[in-house]
Amino acid sequence: MLETNETDRPRRSVSPYKAGIKSVCPHCAAAPLFHNILEVYETCPGCGFDLSAADPGDGAQVFVILVLGGLCAVLGFVLYGLLDMPIWALALTLGVFALIGSVWMLRVFKATLIALQFHHDARQGSVDEQKAKS
Ligand SMILES: [Zn+2]
Repeated sequence: MLETNETDRPRRSVSPYKAGIKSVCPHCAAAPLFHNILEVYETCPGCGFDLSAADPGDGAQVFVILVLGGLCAVLGFVLYGLLDMPIWALALTLGVFALIGSVWMLRVFKATLIALQFHHDARQGSVDEQKAKS
């Protein structure tokens, strides 16, 4: 049985989705979560909350590839098919859209996954060796 101490749990007054959209700390929602565009702080610069356990894995990248890839395809069909945009302008437009959109969406999805991880106390599983032997 998993033993949890309720006093060790972080305060959960911040909505993980609001913290994700704003890309802020999931504990205080006042300080930024990232430095250097996509690197997560080890500790929150505002409240000192330990963010070293934050691990969204590759989940954010998968969401961004699927969502932004679909949006780029639709935008490409509209710009080329309906508006008859030249190929060079289409490539430039879609390139800029994909670059800016992917960085923004990666920040939002990564911050949301990190906030959900802390909201639900998700962490690496472990086995208590003493209990496992008995
Ligand atoms: Zn904070």
